[in-house]
Amino acid sequence: MTTALITGATSGIGLAAAKRLAADGTHVFLTGRREEALDAAVASIGAGATGIRADVANLNDLERVATAVRDHGAGLDVLFANAGGGEFAALGDITWQHYADTFNTNVGGTLFTVQTLLPLLNRGASIILTSSNIDVKGAASFSVYAASKAALRSFTRSWAAELVGREIRVNSIAPGPIGTPGLSGLAPDAEAAEQLLKGLASGVPMNRLGSPEEVAEAVAFLASPNSSYMTGAEIYVDGGASQI
Ligand code: NAP
Repeated sequence: MTTALITGATSGIGLAAAKRLAADGTHVFLTGRREEALDAAVASIGAGATGIRADVANLNDLERVATAVRDHGAGLDVLFANAGGGEFAALGDITWQHYADTFNTNVGGTLFTVQTLLPLLNRGASIILTSSNIDVKGAASFSVYAASKAALRSFTRSWAAELVGREIRVNSIAPGPIGTPGLSGLAPDAEAAEQLLKGLASGVPMNRLGSPEEVAEAVAFLASPNSSYMTGAEIYVDGGASQI
């Protein structure tokens, strides 16, 4: 049976990808920090899912994830390193804490997730990172987040080079604005969130937000042998926002 680990699978893109991969018969390991949300995510998938509460910015947690995958006994065919997030902060208001929190989760969390799980990856495995279409664009008040995602774009290329000999492919997805709790959570309240989402949708050529399920389809493609000649690449799932 195919196995996949999806970090940050308690909501949004990660949860949609977990459901999408499980629908194909893949056994999915889900992680996230919130116990209740994790239990609900696992219950929504059923017997083909295992939840492991873990913070990607904590090495002990990542070791526990590796132990649970090892104990399952089938290695990993897909590693979707998706956990991440950000907050707005304009130049002048950026604190060291803001920088450290963003980079520890998005960059360090992705790096050490991949490094810790690497010994368990089967030959022919697919690693997928969640970057953002912001990795090739400037974004006012979002520079630290954008830089963290640009780092993931760079990791994708270097790790693809390092792992090609093991027949492990490394690619990333670059979502545009996707309707998830993480996106709404950038705003301080419900009214501001509505304005934010409206503004973001109007900046997309398709004039709408994407859905987590639309991103999950790109993840399923990169996870499958259908993308067998792709490595070091990035797929934009952004309604054309970064391209036209
Ligand atoms: P979301 O619904 O808030 O999901 C974020 C997930 O990451 C949650 O499951 C959260 O779980 C987990 N997470 C966050 N910090 C974590 C940590 N330190 N350790 C473990 N898990 C952690 O938001 P989303 O939009 O689906 O975001 C998923 C990914 O897509 C992120 O990397 C984000 O940067 C990226 N992205 C999103 C958009 C968008 O518009 N939505 C666009 C481009 C890129 P817990 O809270 O339970 O820990």
